Amino acid sequence: MGGEVTTTLDMVTVLDGRTRDRVGLLDILWDIQRRAGHISADAAGQVAEWLGLSVEDVLETATFYHFFHTEPSGRYRIYLSDNVIAKTRCYDRVREALERETGTRFGGPGSTDFGLFETACVGMSDHEPAMLIDGIVFADLTPGSVAEIIGGLKSGRSPAQIANPSGIPDDDLAYVERLTGTVVHTSGPVFFGGDGDHGGLLRGCRAMAPEDVIAAITQSGLRGRGGAGFPTGNKWKFCRAAAGDEKYIICNADEGEPGTFKDRVLLTYSPREVFAGMAIAARAVGAREGILYLRAEYAYLQNYLERQLAQLRVDGALGEGFDIRIQLGAGAYICGDESALIESCEGKRGTPRLKPPFPVEHGFLGKPTVVNNVETFAAASRIMTDGAAWFAAMGVPGSTGTRLLSVAGDCAAPGIYEVEWGITLAQVLDVIGADNPRAVQISGPSGEMLSVAADAGRRLAYDDLSCNGSFMVFNHERDLLEIVGDFMQFFVDESCGICVPCRAGNVALRQKVGLVAAGRAARSDLDDMVAWGGIVAHTSRCGLGATSPNPILTTLKKFPEIYAARLREPAGALLPSFDEAAELTAHARAVAELAPREAL
Ligand code: SF4
Repeated sequence: MGGEVTTTLDMVTVLDGRTRDRVGLLDILWDIQRRAGHISADAAGQVAEWLGLSVEDVLETATFYHFFHTEPSGRYRIYLSDNVIAKTRCYDRVREALERETGTRFGGPGSTDFGLFETACVGMSDHEPAMLIDGIVFADLTPGSVAEIIGGLKSGRSPAQIANPSGIPDDDLAYVERLTGTVVHTSGPVFFGGDGDHGGLLRGCRAMAPEDVIAAITQSGLRGRGGAGFPTGNKWKFCRAAAGDEKYIICNADEGEPGTFKDRVLLTYSPREVFAGMAIAARAVGAREGILYLRAEYAYLQNYLERQLAQLRVDGALGEGFDIRIQLGAGAYICGDESALIESCEGKRGTPRLKPPFPVEHGFLGKPTVVNNVETFAAASRIMTDGAAWFAAMGVPGSTGTRLLSVAGDCAAPGIYEVEWGITLAQVLDVIGADNPRAVQISGPSGEMLSVAADAGRRLAYDDLSCNGSFMVFNHERDLLEIVGDFMQFFVDESCGICVPCRAGNVALRQKVGLVAAGRAARSDLDDMVAWGGIVAHTSRCGLGATSPNPILTTLKKFPEIYAARLREPAGALLPSFDEAAELTAHARAVAELAPREAL
């Protein structure tokens, strides 16, 4: 992702050996940026000519993604995570230190050497503040460590040399551990079980009829772990039944929901299980090609994952009729939506498609495609190893097996926890050593803010709290309204902008939250927020818009006092026209009607 900035760009070298296919556009843009530091109009023009596209086509793709630059952006591009968890740590002092040490300002023009940017989440919420420098992650930052890192860059050392001074090969597990340091606090019986015989597993699955593989997954009760909870067996069955011989398997490794990092850890400790799960899906639906879409924030995993793929080919688990390639994303939360992710895999902007048709019928390159996330594929692999009945015996009816939680915030032990479905909120808080908790944001900003006082007895289950894996704890010292404002800003920044309710509505909602925070809002402003939130949720094209008002709607329900305390009028009946039950029921219906999103 990073590298030397050269003054001239040899496009012949960039394009040499590549097929003239738009599917490779993101890879080409990455290559140009690595070599030249940015994607110039001239380079975009040459790529356009070579691919038979217009230069506008290439530039609209390049400008869509956060990590691509079409202007010089510094020899070292530094992305500081600015999510709410970072802000509960020493984020402000780290930010100041970065500006001081680089002599550059965030949001400013940058310098020859440094460009400073903020980004929503680099998947390190257990070790915030964190930042990426040209794809290398640095965590647990302090003003002192920032000074050392920037000093190292100024003295000519590369980000990789600074992060990994002992020179561990970058395809080694120890390298990934050195960079991330995530602790898996509780694991098993489903995940992190160690290396299995994936060659043998795949040979066994190939000996089965595809229908029997699908039947086993269906009997296990496995549901998609991205949040939507669509039954995995059904998804595979629909794809198998779809017309056409050319089918694809895509693993959504674009967990961009702030607060979540479990897929990164699964890819670190159980990558072969994930790839084996993809190969099992391929056997079930009749696919010959698989793509792991890796979020750009995890680029430092790529060589490690390539090594795992190579080993699986040696073991006979891949390569015979089905193989997997890695597609690196370029920074866009919306690409966690399965149809936006497919667009991105095709070398385009990550704009969600209208559905139907669904990807199982009309997916990658218009062919039937299964998109599941990392955890779903890993679970599928375990089910085919230990049996559907074994898996179905865990959890609760409708929510079988276990699930991984990425725990962050005010607790003694942030990190990864494997829990059985059906566990209560209170039990999770106990296990993680929550510190005087007041609220839990479950499933990231698109999820729900829970009141510990009111919701402690609720269960993690698809029919109650269908947690997508992000679990952020906030104690009584936190300003919840500030957190709501941060979450709304996140949606403003990440909306792809194609539909007006989401593009404009979230800006208006964000402004209203600011009005409340400033003590200048009246009760009618809260009514507006509820009404406008309903419009955004009900009329937006995809799950991002459908869920973006959640930070406001769920806190109005659970923490009305944080609004009432700041109204400029005397507190009375807080929301005279807000029928909370009706509003949330309608909202839930609208979300359910939207196509399943695997990672948002
Ligand atoms: Fe894009 Fe928002 Fe519309 Fe989704 S809802 S398609 S993110 S503008």
